[in-house]
Amino acid sequence: MPALDDSVQFAKGIGPKKAKLLEKLHIRTLRDALETYPRDYEDRTKITLIADIDEEDKYCVRGIVGTAPTLRRIRKGLDLTKTTVFDETGTLNITYFNNKYAAATLREGQEYLFYGSVQGYGRGRTMVSPQSEPVPKTGEPIGRIVPVYPLTAGVSQRNMEQVTESALAAVAGDWPDPLPELLRVKYNLVDASDALISIHRPQTMRDVAEARRRMIFEELFLLCCGLQQLKERRRADEGLLFANTDLSAFFAALPFSPTGAQRRAITEQAADVVSGRPMNRLVQGDVGSGKTIVAAALCVLAAQNGYQAAFMAPTEILAAQHAKSLTPILEKLGITLTLLTGSMTAAQKRKTLARIESGAAQVVVGTHALIQQSVQFANLGAVVADEQHRFGVTQRAALAAKGHAPHILVMSATPIPRTLALIMYGDLDVSILDEVPPGRTPVETYAVGQNMRQRITRFIDKQIALGGQAYVVCPLVEEGETNLKSAEQHAIDLQKALPHRRVAVLHGRMKNAEKDRIMREFSEKQYDILVSTTVIEVGVDVPNANLMVVEDAERFGLSQLHQLRGRVGRGTRQSFCVFFGADKGETARERLKTLCKTSDGFEIARADLAQRGPGDFFGRRQHGLPALHIADIAADLALMQSAREEAEELLSHDPTLETYPLLRDRVRRMFENSGDEAFN
Ligand code: ADP
Ligand code: MG
Repeated sequence: MPALDDSVQFAKGIGPKKAKLLEKLHIRTLRDALETYPRDYEDRTKITLIADIDEEDKYCVRGIVGTAPTLRRIRKGLDLTKTTVFDETGTLNITYFNNKYAAATLREGQEYLFYGSVQGYGRGRTMVSPQSEPVPKTGEPIGRIVPVYPLTAGVSQRNMEQVTESALAAVAGDWPDPLPELLRVKYNLVDASDALISIHRPQTMRDVAEARRRMIFEELFLLCCGLQQLKERRRADEGLLFANTDLSAFFAALPFSPTGAQRRAITEQAADVVSGRPMNRLVQGDVGSGKTIVAAALCVLAAQNGYQAAFMAPTEILAAQHAKSLTPILEKLGITLTLLTGSMTAAQKRKTLARIESGAAQVVVGTHALIQQSVQFANLGAVVADEQHRFGVTQRAALAAKGHAPHILVMSATPIPRTLALIMYGDLDVSILDEVPPGRTPVETYAVGQNMRQRITRFIDKQIALGGQAYVVCPLVEEGETNLKSAEQHAIDLQKALPHRRVAVLHGRMKNAEKDRIMREFSEKQYDILVSTTVIEVGVDVPNANLMVVEDAERFGLSQLHQLRGRVGRGTRQSFCVFFGADKGETARERLKTLCKTSDGFEIARADLAQRGPGDFFGRRQHGLPALHIADIAADLALMQSAREEAEELLSHDPTLETYPLLRDRVRRMFENSGDEAFN
């Protein structure tokens, strides 16, 4: 009798070699196999009459082989096997490419079930490389629902069925249920064992739906419990008390009057830092909503209470930019700002590190390097992290565990609906900047096709002639994609078309120092046009740049395009944004049009979610949460909402889940396992 924690190599049909290959799918034990859910199902229970095949799709057909299969060599390396099958309603062609064996098992005059995609119409209608099996003897159910598992080289569907078969045998129908009975009843969820069997070996598609719903609820519930516990645990920690929260001098030092939203966020922070508990707050706001001064306010609070503050930016150039804009404000308050960057000379660095260690440096601005071991703070009281997606849950935890328990503020420019934010950042308090500072002229936005190419090139030239600068953004070209131009190629072509303009190129494979140099030179107007992959997405401010052109814009998410657009419209000049891709079909045009119509990041995020489907919305693992096997935070929002409410309710009575040991262990396991790969 196999046990769940046994290696898969002992499963029937699997040996050490296959087991090694299965590791690529993160399957080591039978338990791992159990948690590798099918990505799809083929419903072979539904048999279609040949006459009823009316469009190109996958079908299951029951037919008699009408002609002996014939083999033809089409060219070297390409063999084609053809035959026909018929039922009482019509005839269908069957072809196999380079698969003599599949066809060799078919006997003329015998009846089989065929499952595969049908291509073509009328007499040319052909089922291509179908799976086939003899029709079962009368009495047996015909066909079945076949799970389709994720695969890797050397691992077949058959192998996946073998490992899951052994795993299900190990469970033997007895899979303890971590969900409280009460919730199962309330939400009408099938129990854990049944769900597990149905997910891997469903009898009907309805089984699949019910099993999935239950599994999704369970996963989301575990996630919410874990996040809620993280939050509660931190609430119990003792925080630094910033007794002096008088920010009137700070407000007076600002070159503008803050928006209502900024004031609100700053007030929320001030309440956090006098609460006696460590602050863990997210400030979320669209590009240009003015997150920097909210962070500055926290730095000031720290300094005027005798603590140091660390302000982390994702890149050196951004750090330099923050330092430049914050210095005049802090100077008025008599607070010192120190910039720590990797490009300093050794002597400069030594001096700066000494100032940080002595406490003379009150506000320190720099990159991630700021929180590394070598940097010793005298008394770190607050940490600001710009662009939260680069700063996941574990990093925040590591930071808090540094012993200082500093107040933490993270800033994110990905606008997502509030309900979603509450969940995704379940362990944080959230402030939202939903107001734009006054006096912005909206960016004029156009969605165009290739027929506009020359006009746009002339338009770029004209804007430069008027004193502006332009960004041209190209999608990342994957290996083997020949229909797209790389940023490098684009730069060459653009330089040819506009020989009198200075074109620079920036891409992800460059070293950070080089990227920073080019970005700096662009901001110093040494170039007119910057062609890049999306490395410029992160908030660099070049107020003189007033034109953004995005190539193959249909390849990007709407929210991402909106972020890109946020790079322009920062100066006094009228700014423009041009998206190529409006000629790539109706859907692409509609999506791009959304951006022409609105500049509200939240509205765009909602449209993005609706149009693109949620799987892609956040990009893979951008959110820093544990990896989910089956649930999709955005798609399953309604269930997520319930899961969150129930988790809160349960934990309010039993914060350590003492009465639910199984649930407690599963939550712990989810958060432990996510350690290496889920957090970025
Ligand atoms: P974000 O980081 O949210 O994208 P920033 O903090 O960089 O936005 O602010 C964008 C620009 O708006 C900066 O030039 C900043 O000085 C300016 N700004 C911020 N708040 C205000 C305000 N209340 N009134 C006018 N300008 C503001
Ligand atoms: Mg910013």
